[in-house]
Amino acid sequence: MVSVLIVDCHVHSSGNESVDVILKGMEKAGIDKAIVFSPYPSFSPGEGGRLAPTAGVTRHLGFSYPDVTSERQREAVEFIARLQKEAPDRIIGFVWLEPRLKDAVQLVEWAITSKELKGVKMIPDHWYPYDEFMYPIYRKVEELGVPILFHSGILFGFKDSSRFCRPVNYEVLVSFPKLRFALAHISWPWVDECIALWGRFRAALRERGEGAENMQMFIDITPGTPLIYRRESLQKLIAYGAEDYMVFGTDCSAGRLGYARYHVERDVAILTQEIGVSRKTVDKILGGNALKFLGMK
Ligand SMILES: [Zn+2]
Repeated sequence: MVSVLIVDCHVHSSGNESVDVILKGMEKAGIDKAIVFSPYPSFSPGEGGRLAPTAGVTRHLGFSYPDVTSERQREAVEFIARLQKEAPDRIIGFVWLEPRLKDAVQLVEWAITSKELKGVKMIPDHWYPYDEFMYPIYRKVEELGVPILFHSGILFGFKDSSRFCRPVNYEVLVSFPKLRFALAHISWPWVDECIALWGRFRAALRERGEGAENMQMFIDITPGTPLIYRRESLQKLIAYGAEDYMVFGTDCSAGRLGYARYHVERDVAILTQEIGVSRKTVDKILGGNALKFLGMK
């Protein structure tokens, strides 16, 4: 199995990995480039970078984890920027931004322009993607010309935040037409809603009279989907016309990227043997589409 280029668009860092370990894992898995998210800017007393949630019920706009600060946000950016600097052809750093920080707009601008990170990752923690405080952030990221990768679907962590992560909550981005974004995990279990939202963005493109190169929405096919849902989910995406916008990812932690090999083999087998797509389509999904998402192509 030889591919032109394999990009893993969904890798988590806990803030203590070395470049050596990351590159060794990538080598083992045959991954050419990896989008690595900075750690979440919360105090984490747990071991292995595991976050410990706050007690009690968390309301709209409340925080699931304690002590989220701008200082930690900056430290997290510095860490991922250092990794990227050591292996700029292999590691693509994204800032995992907490958008409720008072200086979030300035922080994201600094992370992209001064620290040269290539995109933004966000998980709605008791905030809705259409909450008004998000608009200045969308405007800034749109201006910076980098993509946002959002968590979407059931959320294992961040307490009872899953309802904030439903695909249709992201429809607001139609009002920021130059903003490129991806929804992670095919939004499982809301796969159909995710695909419908993609169709909604395709319709918006036609409404604006623009070509496919301006399509805003990509779909990060990182599981998410338990295996029994996977063939059907990928097949629906392809049947609906989204094959140029599907991006491969693993959700591996940066220190254990060797496991990404299993993800590549599984998805190639499903795509070629079960669904029966061409090698060209597989190559787009494994890497080519990610370059478009990143604005590198
Ligand atoms: Zn993830």
